[in-house]
Amino acid sequence: MFCACLDYNLYMNADYMNNKFDVIVVGGGHAGCEAVLACAKLGLKVLLCTLNVDNIALQPCNPAVGGPAKSTLVREIDALGGIMGEVTDATYLQMKMLNSSKGPAVRALRAQSDKREYSHFMRNILESNDNIFIKQCCITELKVENDQIVGAVDEFGVEYSSRAIVLTTGTSLEGKIFIGLRSYSAGRLGEKAAIGLSDSLHKLGIETKKLKTGTPARIDKRTIDYSKMIIQPGDEELNFFSFKPDRPIRKTYPCYLTKTNELTHKIIRDNLDKSPMYQGLIHGVGPRYCPSIEDKIVRFASNPSHHIFIEPEGLGTYETYIQGFSTSLPIDVQIQMIRSLPGLEKAHMVKPAYAVEYDYVPAIQTTHSLMSKKIKGLFFGGQINGTSGYEEAAAQGLIAGINAFNYLNGSEMLELSRSSSYIGTLIDDLVTKDIQDPYRMLTSRSEYRLLLRQDNADARLTPIGHKVGLVDDIQYGRFIQKQQAIETESKRLETLKISATEEVNSILAKYDQHLERGIRAAELLKRPGVDYKILKELDSETKELNIPRDVYEQVDVIIKYDGYLKRQEEQVAQAGKLEKFKIPEDIDYNKIDHISSETKDKLSKIRPKDLAQASRIGGIKPADISVLMVMLDKHKV
Ligand SMILES: Cc1cc2nc3c(=O)[nH]c(=O)nc-3n(C[C@H](O)[C@H](O)[C@H](O)COP(=O)(O)OP(=O)(O)OC[C@H]3O[C@@H](n4cnc5c(N)ncnc54)[C@H](O)[C@@H]3O)c2cc1C
Repeated sequence: MFCACLDYNLYMNADYMNNKFDVIVVGGGHAGCEAVLACAKLGLKVLLCTLNVDNIALQPCNPAVGGPAKSTLVREIDALGGIMGEVTDATYLQMKMLNSSKGPAVRALRAQSDKREYSHFMRNILESNDNIFIKQCCITELKVENDQIVGAVDEFGVEYSSRAIVLTTGTSLEGKIFIGLRSYSAGRLGEKAAIGLSDSLHKLGIETKKLKTGTPARIDKRTIDYSKMIIQPGDEELNFFSFKPDRPIRKTYPCYLTKTNELTHKIIRDNLDKSPMYQGLIHGVGPRYCPSIEDKIVRFASNPSHHIFIEPEGLGTYETYIQGFSTSLPIDVQIQMIRSLPGLEKAHMVKPAYAVEYDYVPAIQTTHSLMSKKIKGLFFGGQINGTSGYEEAAAQGLIAGINAFNYLNGSEMLELSRSSSYIGTLIDDLVTKDIQDPYRMLTSRSEYRLLLRQDNADARLTPIGHKVGLVDDIQYGRFIQKQQAIETESKRLETLKISATEEVNSILAKYDQHLERGIRAAELLKRPGVDYKILKELDSETKELNIPRDVYEQVDVIIKYDGYLKRQEEQVAQAGKLEKFKIPEDIDYNKIDHISSETKDKLSKIRPKDLAQASRIGGIKPADISVLMVMLDKHKV
C-alpha cells in the first residue's frame, strides 16, 4: 500500500490556500480518478471535488473490471500511463480470461474486484500525490469569462479558480432513483444528486439530455445456499491488466451460477404495472446491452430461463452481487423474485435494486480532445458523455486529463485515431454519432478489431504515453526490450527448421498434426491448433531460450494472423486517405451547393475535423462526401 508521507514545506505559500488551482476535476469516480492523476503526474496542481470522499472510485454496479472490449480499454489506459489496470491487479478476487479458446481479437480478461479495497487503494494513490487536493463538495456553477472557463462554485458559495475544469459527474446530475413507483433525488444509492450544475451548463448554451441505468440488489452471503448453484472458478494461470511487472499474487475466490425459472418470470410479468419503466415514469433510455431483468423477460418472452451470476463484493463484507438481475420493481416484488432463484430461497436482501435517471451532455458538443466546442478549458469525461461502464469512463477521464494539461500548456491535443485504439474508437463514436442510449464499448464497434487487441495495447500506445509524460523511462525501457525480444524471436522462427522425425511426429500426433517433410517453425505455427507451447515441446533450443510468456504469446499471434493483420493494415491506409482531407473549423456548410439541408444541419452541428469523420456521421451519404472532397480539393470553401 502507498503511504501518504506529506512534506509540509511543499504546501507553504501555496495557491491552494486561495482556492486557486491549475485544474479542477469534478467527480471522484473512474473518469475523475484518471483525470486527476494524469494532471497531477504531469505536474499540475489539481483540486478534486466529489460528493463523498469515502466513495472515491466506487463501483456502484458490478464489482468487476474488464470483459469483452472493456479489457482492451483497461490495457490501453495502462499503456498510456493510466492507473485502472494497476489498481485492478492489486485488488482482484478472481481473474478469468474469457473466450480463451477463441481468436486473440475477442479474448478478454475479466477481474472480479474487491470493491472496497479497489476504492481504498485508489484513494490512497491520490492522497499520496502532493499535487492533488481532495474536497468533499458539490459543484453547482461554472464561471466563464469570454468563453474561457475561469472557475467553479460549490453549494456553499465557495469559489475555486482554474483555467481548466474536467466534469466527470457520472449518474449524479439531477439524478433520480426509482424503486417501484417511488422515486427520490439521488445520484446513486446513499449519495445525493448533484443539483444545479445542469442549469449552469444550460446557461452556457450546453445542452443536456436524460439517460437511465440500473443495478441489481445485494444479498447477504450467509443466506445463500451455494450447493444449489454451479461453481465458477477463476483461472489458475493468472493474467493481469497492467504491463508493469511485479504485483502480489492473491488468493482467488469463485463466483456461482444460478438461473431464473418460470416462477421468477411469472412474478415479474404479474408485477409489470409496478415498474416505473413500464408506467412511463422514466423517460431516459437505458443501456441496450445491459437490460433489466423485466426487459429481458418481456423482450425475450420465449426464453425459459436466464443465467444469473452470484458474485462476491469483497473479503471484508458479506454483501453479494446478483449479476443479470437488475430491476426497478418494488422491494417486496424484488424479494419474491430473488427467493424464486435456486439457492436464494432464504436470501436476505442487504440493498435493493434500483434504476437511476440522470442528465448527460451529448458528446457531439465536444471535440475529439473532449474539450467543449463552446467553452475553452471545459472538458467532459465518463458517464456524463453518454457512456456506461467503469472502463469507458476511465478511458475518457484519462484523455480529458491529458488534454487539460495540453490545453494549459499550449501543446497539441491528444486525439487518438480509430485505428490506434478502442479509446480512439469510443471517443470518435461519441463525438460523431448522436448517441441515444448509454454507450458501451463492444468489439463490433471497431472496424480494426484484429489490430486492436488487449494483448498488443502496449505496442500501440506506450510510445504515446511516454511522449505525453505519463509512462516513465523505466517502463518505457521495459517496453522497448519486449518489442526487441518479439522481433528477434519472430525472425528466429522464420528460419528455424522443424524436421519430420519420428519423435516430432509422435509429439504432433497428440495435437492431430503430422509432418510429411521438414518445415519452418513459423509455418508450423500458422497451422490451427499449433501454438508456441507445442514448439517448445518439439524443439530443445526453443525450450532452452525460455522466452517470457508475454513475448512468445505476441510472437504466436503475429505469425499466426500475419495475413489478416496485413489486410487490416491496408484498410487503415485506405481510411487514412479520407483523414488527409482536413475540414477548416470555420467552414460555412450553408454555402455549399449540391448537399441536402439535412446534411448541412448535421455537418454544422457536429463540425467534423476531416472527411473520414464526416463519412461516419449517421445519414451522411457517399455522394455528400464526394461533393465535400471536390470542394476541399479546390479550396472553394
Ligand atoms: C445504479 C447504477 C447502475 C449501473 N449499471 C451499470 C451497468 O450495468 N453496466 C455498466 O457498465 N455500468 C453501470 N453503471 C455505470 C458505472 O457505474 C459508471 O459508468 C461509471 O462508474 C462511470 O464513471 P464516472 O467516473 O463517469 O462516474 P461515477 O463513477 O458515477 O462518478 C461520478 C462522481 O462524480 C461525483 N459528482 C457528481 N456530480 C458532482 C458535483 N456536482 N460536484 C462534485 N462531485 C460530483 C460523484 O460524487 C461521483 O464521485 C451503473 C451505475 C449506477 C449508479
